[in-house]
Amino acid sequence: MQLTAAVVAVQGDVSEHAEAVRRAASAHGHEVEIREVRTSGVVPDADLLLMPGGESTTISRHLRREGIAEEVREHVAADRPVLATCAGLIVAARDAKDDRVDELGLLDVTVDRNAFGRQADSFEVPLDVTGLDSPFPAVFIRAPVIDEVGEGVEVLASWEGRPVAVRDGPIVGTSFHPELTDDPRVHDLAFFETGATLPER
Ligand code: GLN
Repeated sequence: MQLTAAVVAVQGDVSEHAEAVRRAASAHGHEVEIREVRTSGVVPDADLLLMPGGESTTISRHLRREGIAEEVREHVAADRPVLATCAGLIVAARDAKDDRVDELGLLDVTVDRNAFGRQADSFEVPLDVTGLDSPFPAVFIRAPVIDEVGEGVEVLASWEGRPVAVRDGPIVGTSFHPELTDDPRVHDLAFFETGATLPER
């Protein structure tokens, strides 16, 4: 299948996410055209959406100001898959407990920004993730902690007793940066191993 993936390109690892989704797609025989999202009009044509890390205050305000936030809500309402990582997870969350973040409220979790970051700025751990048959090398960079998880949310991975990867309907959110390794399995989980068929357009 020929797919279109939109990558929010305000900040963060845009090309790394593009590469990871391309590799995950090709293992399923799909080709992916990548489109960077800075303005409205891109997300409505996308099958897949990636929300990279960065600074959640800046990203969330940009999405609102440009009218992209509403398009992301429509993408999720149409059951199209999203992978939201680190700051992307914070932006997608129900509550980031910080007035400077304009959350989308699509992922039924509350997060504590920079919570892991207070302990160590960045670290990498082998993480057991539901659906993967061996640990995933998870890189955390000033990462948020997920603290409250809504009823419909599946916890896919935890670190030190706290959820760090979750699935809520078409959205997978991770506290860590799956694009910073050459292991595309989290992108695969989010987009191609969902148990659902990709919605027809
Ligand atoms: N701490 C950042 C924030 O609150 C997220 C860090 C990241 O994306 N690596 O937005």
